[in-house]
Amino acid sequence: MASRPALNLPQLQRNLLAWYDVEQRPLPWRANRDPYRVWISEVMCQQTRAEVAAPAFERFVAAFPDVTALAAAEEDAVLSLWSGLGYYSRARALRRAAQQLRDAGYRTLPDDPSIVSALPGIGPYSLAAILSIAHGQALAAVDGNVVRVLSRLRRLGRPDARGRPHRELAMQLLDRDRPGDWNQALMELGARLCTPRAPRCVACPISPGCDAHAARDELSFPPPKPRRQKETLGVELEIVRDQTGRILLERGGFALLSHLWLPPARLLDTPPEDFDLKHQILHRELRVVVKTRLLSERDLLRQLESAAPYVERQIFKEEELATIGRSSLLTKALQQSRD
Ligand code: SF4
Repeated sequence: MASRPALNLPQLQRNLLAWYDVEQRPLPWRANRDPYRVWISEVMCQQTRAEVAAPAFERFVAAFPDVTALAAAEEDAVLSLWSGLGYYSRARALRRAAQQLRDAGYRTLPDDPSIVSALPGIGPYSLAAILSIAHGQALAAVDGNVVRVLSRLRRLGRPDARGRPHRELAMQLLDRDRPGDWNQALMELGARLCTPRAPRCVACPISPGCDAHAARDELSFPPPKPRRQKETLGVELEIVRDQTGRILLERGGFALLSHLWLPPARLLDTPPEDFDLKHQILHRELRVVVKTRLLSERDLLRQLESAAPYVERQIFKEEELATIGRSSLLTKALQQSRD
């Protein structure tokens, strides 16, 4: 096959969006960009294929057409309309989130990232997908399909614990004029053409810009997950409190436990010899250093604003900690900070 010139970024964006405009599946949530419908569809499509989610979506939004209706629904009614999708905790979280929105006076999903990210069931991926599609915000949504496409496009290894370098590449490639369509187009490409075992590069709109295709080694990317040898990592957790005992927690900043609330955490360059506690996550042993910082109420509030856009931060009272999705690592770290 004759080689074709590589694509520059504007060409790559144009090619993929033009393909998406023609080839996108007519899924029911694509009929409009109503934020409530976009939200429901994104939650349904987590861990469920779009074709399976589509009929369930239509039943669900017919029964609960808006935030007010979902917030007022009985839990059993919501769960019964979730049947076939699995992962029922997602449905419970949706209903709780609708109730939070209703109680705060919202009739649909707002465009404020700090409000949306504080809702139950919303992680960094959902936040970016919903706000880019429904509200046109320039946030890159990186799911498994997107990781595969980006890995092949630039012959990248697997993303690290912070999602790098895929998150950064996704933000570089993002089409600022059509961020929601761009995110959906990358996901659609991963689902339809750039599939795990049989990529159809001959039909791919970005094949001239794809490094793996140029090297004819598409199936080498992303590389298979390495054998799970025991790995030791160093982590620093910072317990940030005010004088009343309220504590700052975040979700999404520490990729190994990205769905759970933790104190601000950072991976250390090397595992420390001197540490406060150990914590096991599958094959990984974390050596954890726990630091404590006491702030004024005002300075604690300021910490809410200093997180990266994909990190959700919230301040909790001590008695609220029993009701949130938390890692046992949080329990151990709190115990350590009191000793
Ligand atoms: S050219 Fe092939 S490997 Fe590259 S993005 Fe397209 S389908 Fe995937």
